[in-house]
Amino acid sequence: MALIRCPECGREVSDLAAACVHCGYPLRAADLPARYAIILADPGPDPGKTAALLHDRLTLTQEEAQSLTMETPAVAVQGLTFRQAWDLSDTLRHTCTCKVVRDKSVWTPEAVRNAAPVDLNQEQSRSWAERAAAPMTFGKTVGAILCALAIWTVAGFLLASLLHAF
Ligand SMILES: [Zn+2]
Repeated sequence: MALIRCPECGREVSDLAAACVHCGYPLRAADLPARYAIILADPGPDPGKTAALLHDRLTLTQEEAQSLTMETPAVAVQGLTFRQAWDLSDTLRHTCTCKVVRDKSVWTPEAVRNAAPVDLNQEQSRSWAERAAAPMTFGKTVGAILCALAIWTVAGFLLASLLHAF
């Protein structure tokens, strides 16, 4: 365990803590996998069809879906994983104009208007990198040790038979 400085209050906290014990600032927020939101930018040529699709695919009532198509740009759905956002935007793009953006906990009207769409290809490689950088689990650690033991045994056996041959 080491002590790090809280970026919010500047006091020392354990690097293992999920949040600062002094001020509650989340220290692990950066470790969490990114979340995505879908912004409906334009309801398309047939807003009725778009509303029906949104009602069908999201947890929106018919009224909510309808008012969403009349208040664009608007956040259609939040808190998606990369995969969910990718699939949904693929379904929606035939009917309306939408964009996948990095999710925020609070969406002001200005943030909705100015949100830049994420580059899905870039995000995909990033989410893979995140997965690759995931901490070692117990199972993975045991697997790695067993693997090393197996390699060591085989190498020892080969070396022994090699020495025996000479
Ligand atoms: Zn703090």
